[in-house]
Amino acid sequence: MNGFQHLYIPGPTNVPEPVRQAMNLPMEDMRAPDFPDFVQGLLTDLKKAYRMETGRIFVFPSSGTGAWESAIQNTLQAGDKVLMSRFGQFSLLWVDMAERLGLDVELIDVEWGKGVPIEDYATHLADDKEHKIKAVFATQNETATGVTSDIEGVRKALDAADHPAMLFVDGVSSIASIEFEMDKWGVDLAVSGSQKGFMLPAGLGILGASEKALAANKALADAGMARCYFSFEDMIKLNDTGYFPYTPATQLLRGLRCSLDMMLETGMESIWARHKRLAEGVRAAVDAWDGCELVARGPEWHSDTVSAIYAPEGVDARDVISTAYYKYQTSLGTGLNKLMGKAFRIGHLGSLNPVMLCGAISAAEMALVDAGAKIEPGSGVAAAQAQFRATTPNVNAPV
Ligand code: PLP
Repeated sequence: MNGFQHLYIPGPTNVPEPVRQAMNLPMEDMRAPDFPDFVQGLLTDLKKAYRMETGRIFVFPSSGTGAWESAIQNTLQAGDKVLMSRFGQFSLLWVDMAERLGLDVELIDVEWGKGVPIEDYATHLADDKEHKIKAVFATQNETATGVTSDIEGVRKALDAADHPAMLFVDGVSSIASIEFEMDKWGVDLAVSGSQKGFMLPAGLGILGASEKALAANKALADAGMARCYFSFEDMIKLNDTGYFPYTPATQLLRGLRCSLDMMLETGMESIWARHKRLAEGVRAAVDAWDGCELVARGPEWHSDTVSAIYAPEGVDARDVISTAYYKYQTSLGTGLNKLMGKAFRIGHLGSLNPVMLCGAISAAEMALVDAGAKIEPGSGVAAAQAQFRATTPNVNAPV
């Protein structure tokens, strides 16, 4: 009767109806003789979304955090030196995990609103003549601040220093939404999850591993960190036969088959372009709202999957979020950690279109005014409309 609750958080994202239907199945036999054809086709096609031809994709019944853990446990040893940067809640949590797993983290703290400090990385790598740094970590899209970093730039810094460290990328809120190139950028371990660009419920941790990462795993053999549930070795052994070392989340895998089909039919470039267009509409709205500004400190950091937006001085962003939720049936993303109360987020990734986003912007705008912001009602929606009207989708495709 009241319509539905609108979801504009940066994951979980809206699940397209065909994907939901594809998961609405009776339980199936995960040891059936024809299951391997399904699994191997899925793993092969996932590589297309990751833009990788060699290496392997692992799909764990976990969220993205499990894939983070697997990437570390399978390729590094406690005590290994790694280079990381921290500029938001998710890069912060990744550092926390690395430290708790016993890595020796060389950490660069960066102002929240900026991203991976490539020049600093270049200096650290050039200074590391003995190649003590075993891996360089980069969060491609910091979901807490709406900041995207230049992963190709990190690869260039590694190459310029002729440094053999592995490149780990957190692509949880970027892969399958904005440009990501596993092979071209020489990424060794790339983490994502099902609930963002892949447009599924949470429950799958997806990890791309390059040949170099697989070789590092082999070289560790029984050494390295203790690993069991997330072990590459167990997964490889069973995946090679088309099965899993434990009960797979078959419903989610069927949904993934459907979302991947939609994505590959659309084409990754078109998906990236659609996200850019949607993001530009949201950024136009933020520009039009007096007193609001993006947390991202400049266009070079703008994320095309999520905008984190400072509420005007004197307005508590938590009021904006709760008003949007209760009064306008719209979920906006909360400000995380030190952004709590200061910022709210609009997720613009996954299955979305301009009219849906005009709804999100309208709800945010009403809630901002209700919470005391002195913005012109309608100004953000008008700016987004102008942006959307001035641009056209480049394809007529299902995603
Ligand atoms: N990394 C980023 C950039 C994220 O946005 C998230 C979750 O939002 C994570 C990691 C953690 O992923 P998950 O919640 O799927 O475990």
